[in-house]
Amino acid sequence: MQKILKQVENKKIFDVLIIGSGAAGNSLALQLPKTMSVGLISKTELHEGSTYYAQGGISAVLSKIDSINQHVEDTMEAGAGLCKEDIVKAVAKDSKVIIEWLLEQGVKFTKNESGSSDKLHLTKEGGHTYPRIVHAADKTGEAIQDSLINKVKKQSNIELFTHHVAIDLITKENKDSAQKKCVGSYILNKKNNQINVFKAKFVVLATGGANKVYLYTSNPDTSSGDGIAMAYRAGCDIANMEFMQFHPTCLFHHKAKSFLISESLRGEGGRLLLPNGDSFMHKYDSRGVLAPRDIVARAIDSEMKINGFDYVLLDISHKKSSFIKKRFPNIYKKCLEFNIDITKTPMPVVPATHYTCGGINIDINARTNIKNLYAIGEVAHSGLHGANRMASNSLLECIFFSKKVLEDIKKYENEKHEDIRNLLENNKDKKVSEEVIIKHSWKEIRTLMWNYVGIVRTNERLLKAKIRISIFKREVEESFDKNIISSDLIELRNLIYIAEIIITSALARKESRGLHYNLDYPKINDEAKDTIINIGVKNNIKLYQEK
Ligand SMILES: Cc1cc2nc3c(=O)[nH]c(=O)nc-3n(C[C@H](O)[C@H](O)[C@H](O)COP(=O)(O)OP(=O)(O)OC[C@H]3O[C@@H](n4cnc5c(N)ncnc54)[C@H](O)[C@@H]3O)c2cc1C
Repeated sequence: MQKILKQVENKKIFDVLIIGSGAAGNSLALQLPKTMSVGLISKTELHEGSTYYAQGGISAVLSKIDSINQHVEDTMEAGAGLCKEDIVKAVAKDSKVIIEWLLEQGVKFTKNESGSSDKLHLTKEGGHTYPRIVHAADKTGEAIQDSLINKVKKQSNIELFTHHVAIDLITKENKDSAQKKCVGSYILNKKNNQINVFKAKFVVLATGGANKVYLYTSNPDTSSGDGIAMAYRAGCDIANMEFMQFHPTCLFHHKAKSFLISESLRGEGGRLLLPNGDSFMHKYDSRGVLAPRDIVARAIDSEMKINGFDYVLLDISHKKSSFIKKRFPNIYKKCLEFNIDITKTPMPVVPATHYTCGGINIDINARTNIKNLYAIGEVAHSGLHGANRMASNSLLECIFFSKKVLEDIKKYENEKHEDIRNLLENNKDKKVSEEVIIKHSWKEIRTLMWNYVGIVRTNERLLKAKIRISIFKREVEESFDKNIISSDLIELRNLIYIAEIIITSALARKESRGLHYNLDYPKINDEAKDTIINIGVKNNIKLYQEK
């Protein structure tokens, strides 16, 4: 940590420091008592993050034909033996209250056309037995972010820091217990390239997923796994990172930056076809196009590899043009930008990484194994998703655990600030790292992860990837020591740590389960176990342990 302190500027002090302004971070900031000072950090603009791009919706048990038990059953089935039942039950039970809270915040969900006008329209997605997805047309995330951010900006106890990047957590050894305590974070202000110490009684990581570690992703650039990498370096348990979810259908077009085509398009009758027009999903699963997304992604990957296709087709053009334009206005408009009129022609699609099922291990209160450090949203592993996330459960999870943090923090009202030494050193001897080196390493790592640690894995490819990543890790730590710490360098370092964690986790799992598929272990074990990685007391001593 010495090297970071050379660029350190000054100190900010809060009751609660929230790193990340997506659904998880914003909803927590809004709910915390107004008597608490809150620092809310965002790497770029406030709205930017996966939340903003969520199209499909948020699952909730609202319809009369549905039940909490069925939501639990569907979630557990998708999770392939690794869901924590108590967590799944608690989340499904609270889903109605969560939707009501979002409505109170002003989120304008789509309503039913027929029947009572106050009823929300529910759609169906892969893995869900009944229509259960509340949505705002096909821009659910945008509607949520707009409402939450509108409120966050007006709340006087919340101080906003956009274009600020958290680098690492600050922890203190505890004299009375073996458990470390988190007391703040080093934050880089991108506008002036200075590093500040942000001190807080409680720190909440809400930094989203790590999907940018792969070449093709549906996620925005913010998803570089910063929170998971920071927590890992600080000594948190990181769970089940081998389970990376690939979304089956991202638009295949050289100008579309992995634009996602929502699963609800298949829910509304969209068909998957080979480029010659033949359907194929029935060969892989009796549920056809509505099979869980891992099965659909592997089926597409398999057809592409066997036949040498660059893409497959997703077709909704058999539906009425007026219906398509009304139900999928965003997808319709975006595809039209690339000269694809989805009311007339099918769209070319490929799989891309979409969701990080693993993450920082948390308990039902969103606590990590470091005192006063919480993790919520996609950065966390709560046990809700198990080995495979069911569609539209993640936004629900973000809000559920923000409520849990609130309840937990209230129990520790008398918590005091810890002293942090202000180790201010100047930065004059450091040089800027060459952009070409960062860009090259970045591309190489993401390509390596795509080719060697992708949808279908083998031991040989994983071991080769492990060796290559260890070289990158040595280089980046050297660079971190010698060069001025920039946002790009921080992200590159984090991507390397994430790659290491995913590879180590994938090598440890000697079976194929859920999203993890290894040709050397094609069978599923009788016993379902989590993979827990911990960096250990000293770097890399206790690399891996199973619990
Ligand atoms: C295209 C797309 C469609 C999706 N559709 C759905 C859907 O229909 N339903 C559903 O339930 N889920 C969906 N998901 C998944 C869901 O959107 C995400 O899991 C969820 O929004 C994650 O929210 P979050 O608050 O945890 O993180 P994010 O919304 O990703 O926010 C992360 C925040 O952390 C900040 N951050 C990151 N690193 C740092 C750092 N080092 N320092 C400071 N700030 C940092 C970012 O700037 C950002 O503010 C979709 C995801 C994508 C990408």
